[in-house]
Amino acid sequence: MDDEPVRIIDSHLHLDMLLDRIGDTAAWFKREEIFPVSWSYAYAGADSVAGLTAYFAAQAERFARVQNDLPCAYLVGIHPRNLPDDLRPEQVGEVLEPWISKAGCVGLGEIGIDTDDPREAEIFEAQVCWSAQLLETQVVGVHTPRVDKSSITRQILDILDRCAPRPDRVVMDHCSSETLPRVLERPYWAGISLSPNKSSIDEAVEMMLGHADQLDRMMCNTDSALEIYDHLTVLATDDRLTTKQREQLLCGTAKAFMLGG
Ligand SMILES: [Zn+2]
Repeated sequence: MDDEPVRIIDSHLHLDMLLDRIGDTAAWFKREEIFPVSWSYAYAGADSVAGLTAYFAAQAERFARVQNDLPCAYLVGIHPRNLPDDLRPEQVGEVLEPWISKAGCVGLGEIGIDTDDPREAEIFEAQVCWSAQLLETQVVGVHTPRVDKSSITRQILDILDRCAPRPDRVVMDHCSSETLPRVLERPYWAGISLSPNKSSIDEAVEMMLGHADQLDRMMCNTDSALEIYDHLTVLATDDRLTTKQREQLLCGTAKAFMLGG
């Protein structure tokens, strides 16, 4: 990331899906000077441990290639919507371990809980415990759902409070105005996703200004997967925030958290 100019870090998106679907993805990110941090999510094929492993292999191979063209980083993790029937909680370490220290991999994610299916909580907890194996510089990226956000966020926080080996290396993502204060009162970092189906720019600005003294633990993203959202480039010129606040939210926090400053 040293040679290319970086204006914005999109701290959570699905770059592999975008690259598969949209021809000029890499050119768009370079033109906008956006450094993408891609999180694991298999669009198809993760219905067995073998299928999930094939996804991680393809992801590693993909990012080894794309980094020559587009500076970027990525997380490896078992997404709550990617739980193979044959995956047991005690297996998560052996499934993740081969991929977590590849070049460009900055940690574990996307992990989390999406529904009230108890298996999701089990696999999430197993991955949180396993994160003790990460390098100290690596991070843990946590998904919170859209439906039942408040109660499932509470469940996720309970598990993190109990098990996270390094709480100051965890980002709770897709925070809403309701869940953000509960994240910020703990040692975790907070992600705000701006897109047509997550927070609008107005909602996000309101959340940010409401916690203006904690912007150094808040980072923005688009969670783009099927199409590229330009919400961060729009936010970059929103004068309800100062230049310094925009720089912090769009680049500074994510850089300090995920990319070692
Ligand atoms: Zn995502």
